[in-house]
Amino acid sequence: MIIHMAEGATAEQADRVIERIGADYGLQCETIVGTGSIVIGVKGVAGIVDEGRVSELPGVDRVIRITEKYKDASRSFHHEDTVVNVAGVPVGGGNLTIFGGPCAIESEAQAVESAHTARDAGVDILRAFVDKSRTSPYDYRGLEIARGLEIVRAMKAATGLPVVSELIDLRHLDAFLSAGVDVIQIGARSAQYSPLLEELARIRTPVVLKHGFGNDMNEWLCAAAYIMSGIDREGRSGGSGNPNVILCYRGIKSFEAETRFAADISMIPLVRSKSHLPLIADPSHSSGDRALVERVSYGFVAAGANGLEFDVHSNPAEALCDGRQAVREEAGRIVDKARAIHALLAGIGVETGAVVAPK
Ligand code: PEP
Ligand code: MN
Repeated sequence: MIIHMAEGATAEQADRVIERIGADYGLQCETIVGTGSIVIGVKGVAGIVDEGRVSELPGVDRVIRITEKYKDASRSFHHEDTVVNVAGVPVGGGNLTIFGGPCAIESEAQAVESAHTARDAGVDILRAFVDKSRTSPYDYRGLEIARGLEIVRAMKAATGLPVVSELIDLRHLDAFLSAGVDVIQIGARSAQYSPLLEELARIRTPVVLKHGFGNDMNEWLCAAAYIMSGIDREGRSGGSGNPNVILCYRGIKSFEAETRFAADISMIPLVRSKSHLPLIADPSHSSGDRALVERVSYGFVAAGANGLEFDVHSNPAEALCDGRQAVREEAGRIVDKARAIHALLAGIGVETGAVVAPK
């Protein structure tokens, strides 16, 4: 962090700034005195410094942040790719991991049948979504939680696959864990809800963190840092913090009404270069249209995603939730071709820090 003192600011004012940074954050500073201006450089990890407070101090002109506010999620502080282990399935690094399954559990028969469709297509981790946040209260919002979790167990037993399920309400966390949910998903609507993020810092269960549809990259990675740092209101981490975060991109709101969200493909290599965390992408919830899901999947993988998460339903026409964007017979081809594209492009790109020329 660089603090630029206003023209005419006194040496005493600069000293007061340096004292405050030392007293409030335990950080040291270095000063450069130029002709008519003083510049203070804060040494060490200035991610914890509140630039708003510093800029209010007498004599300060501008505060320029150099380090990001999402330290734990940042590649600047952790150069290698993080590989998250989901019940033996690796996510991140050189792996391509496919998450798939129905948007929602509707009944035991539908959920188990869709789970078989997804497993036969070759998915690694099964979607087993009990609770659904829907825009309208009149839309299908899932079964009663205890019943839905019984079906989660049945889906696991029928396929032998690990499962991901969205947690909306903190009161259900223990029941999710007891039911054997292997990955907790935080949906786009909850992506910045800090009480949920803080609670997930206390456990080690992997978390898929969706990109909030009105958030920029900094906000998304700061949400990841909430889970990873486990930092409390006094700035102490107290040994907690959950390092097992998987980012999931699904696009943001835009003026285009023909697709559900606007997915910017350049976010994939960008986020991978800024963060060491595994990054997957969701072509179903971004496009909202089965006819687009396959091509969008390949685009995400070619752009460098570490995996995909998409809706697979055994009977999309009858689905109670998001049937329009669910695939069935296309699912196996998507998984196979995504793996082929991933293998073809392995090692290309600057996002991991290793640039390898294409063959
Ligand atoms: C989902 O994955 O089912 C979902 C609701 O996605 P999002 O949180 O991105 O809307
Ligand atoms: Mn959905």
